Amino acid sequence: MAPILERIYRLLSSLKGGTMVPTEIVLSAGSYSQIVTELSEKLGTQGLSHLQVAHHLALPLSIEQNNTDLVILKELIPNPCPICHHRLTFLRETIERFENDASHSIRCPMGHRYQGELKVYYLSIFQGEGVEIEKPVTVCPECGNENIQYLGPKVMFCLDCDWDSGMEPRYHIQR
Ligand SMILES: [Zn+2]
Ligand SMILES: [Zn+2]
Repeated sequence: MAPILERIYRLLSSLKGGTMVPTEIVLSAGSYSQIVTELSEKLGTQGLSHLQVAHHLALPLSIEQNNTDLVILKELIPNPCPICHHRLTFLRETIERFENDASHSIRCPMGHRYQGELKVYYLSIFQGEGVEIEKPVTVCPECGNENIQYLGPKVMFCLDCDWDSGMEPRYHIQR
């Protein structure tokens, strides 16, 4: 099995340029301690704090008792803007603004305001572990571009628009 750290890096880098933004990592206690071991070896240090690990991954990190190893992703839809077809920029800030705005409107880079929705996904870090990925879909059914990113054998999304392979959004983070 590939080290957990490497899996997380690979997962996060596969999301770059897409419409989904990673916002948090949730790890089981076992995976967390394995990451601390991997990171300590890599950095040649000992006794890394929770904060140092989170800082290294550049994302907030929480540890759960149950066996959950996932990355929480957020996505605003529609994206690109339905009026001018420009892709949303500064996604992190745009999502934050949307979450703090009761009117549920999204502002595109050209200044249009439109009604939208925020989707939250839980993506398993070990999805597709050890599986050779076939890539049956190469052209986006929504925008026609050939920028399909695979996260697992049956999980894929388009880097150019908000299309994905029916990934189940979950709206409530249960703690
Ligand atoms: Zn627009
Ligand atoms: Zn597309």
